[in-house]
Amino acid sequence: MTHAVIPAAGRGERMGSKTRKQFLALCGRPVIVHTLSIFQKSPFIDDILCVASKEDQPFLERLIAEHGLTKVKRILPGGERRQDSVQVAIEYLEREGRPDDIVLVHDGVRPLVPPELIERVAREAYKSGGAVAALPVTDSLKEVSADGIIEKSVAREKIWSMQTPQAFRLSLLIEACRKAAGDGFYGTDEAMLVERIGVPIRCIQGSSENIKITTPSDLKIAELLLSSRSASDRGADRVSS
Ligand code: C5P
Repeated sequence: MTHAVIPAAGRGERMGSKTRKQFLALCGRPVIVHTLSIFQKSPFIDDILCVASKEDQPFLERLIAEHGLTKVKRILPGGERRQDSVQVAIEYLEREGRPDDIVLVHDGVRPLVPPELIERVAREAYKSGGAVAALPVTDSLKEVSADGIIEKSVAREKIWSMQTPQAFRLSLLIEACRKAAGDGFYGTDEAMLVERIGVPIRCIQGSSENIKITTPSDLKIAELLLSSRSASDRGADRVSS
């Protein structure tokens, strides 16, 4: 079985809006509906666990019913930090899943993930146990002091920027989460936890369109990308009809 875990319990304070960013409208539909719909349509995903804050659950349940998101098996209550939210889903899968199942964790606020990226990450995780979508950085990198002065340059050749989905064998994720909890370690993604148990993780070339909606300008960029995708889909329909 291949499970998708979609954490969507963040408060999204950097967005500066009253509505949490996972529920903001993107081309007429909430961001989280776009994200869940991509996983719903993927033939590689058997079921979806969505993690949301308790007060958002009734609204999310309505969205899931309205949009026919039948693969969503459970909405689980989120925690204080992203890692706590993912942990809730991993504990659920520890009870309900099998050790060899594959789990793809994907941010609820990355609504433009290409379906073929889900496939490539899942396939690699089945082969090797762990794979993450990522991109080599293109900007120059510096270490900067707290007061904004460059301390030194950092060679960028080996630096990649992490995206999601991040996919792992369930048994590895359980072990990694348990060790992190025991050590009081908090990471910003699953790879940081799995690295700590010494398992090699393969980076799969991600997509520059797979942006994380964090600020109002990200939402504008996402609108543009999505509109140009629908325009090219309409073009393809005209050619094929
Ligand atoms: O905060 P950040 O941008 O890293 O959040 C990435 C994803 O993790 C978002 O979809 C957010 O809703 C989710 N998250 C969560 N629980 C938290 C914090 C973030 O599910 N406590």
